[in-house]
Amino acid sequence: MQGTLLEYLRQYKPSKKPPKPPVKQSPSEEGVILYLSDLLQPEKGDKAGVCVVCGRETKHGHSIPFSEKFTNWPQLQAGEVICEHCYPLVKNQDFRRHSWVLSKEGVRFLKRDEVLDVLLNPPEPPFGIYVTKTRKKQGFLRLVTRTNYSRSRYFIAFDDELIFVDRAVLKEMVEVGRKALELGFTKTELLSGPKIAHRVYSDIVKKIEEFRGNPLWEVVVYAL
Ligand SMILES: [Zn+2]
Repeated sequence: MQGTLLEYLRQYKPSKKPPKPPVKQSPSEEGVILYLSDLLQPEKGDKAGVCVVCGRETKHGHSIPFSEKFTNWPQLQAGEVICEHCYPLVKNQDFRRHSWVLSKEGVRFLKRDEVLDVLLNPPEPPFGIYVTKTRKKQGFLRLVTRTNYSRSRYFIAFDDELIFVDRAVLKEMVEVGRKALELGFTKTELLSGPKIAHRVYSDIVKKIEEFRGNPLWEVVVYAL
């Protein structure tokens, strides 16, 4: 293209053809779940407004609970209510206190030693995975608009942090982490750097140095 982009845009003439109407969804696409909270049984309330978690408008929402449990309430979207779909996530304290995986099969709460197996073998999409170390945060609410449709590249929340998972990288991290623990490395070394005595395992040390600073590595070390 000759000339500047601005010149090009000045010469650009929009096509006379009217824009095509949006493609109509085939029946199989109509059931696509965009919001993770739609995998839960809705609990209807009587407050109308926009949901602070998912941003959708509703006539069946609930007022935002400003009790002590909800200090630092993370208002994710501009709004006034929590919709009937997102309300179960907020109401049921188990979602805050445990790591979990949610899919069409329902919710499964996870013990720490079950987390890596689920991350390595996530369920059939759509799904969401929350991992908590503090058992106090509400970072899982950020997953509501991040429903996963890929089993090899997906998002999880680790407490308040949203973390991207590439399953191939994860697999390598788990292998290296397990091997290092077998060799006597501590979890602190995995996160802060191996001590001098362990530097003889140069391949492992090199990998650890490569992984350190990647937020996914922190999840792996926590769950090992
Ligand atoms: Zn909502």
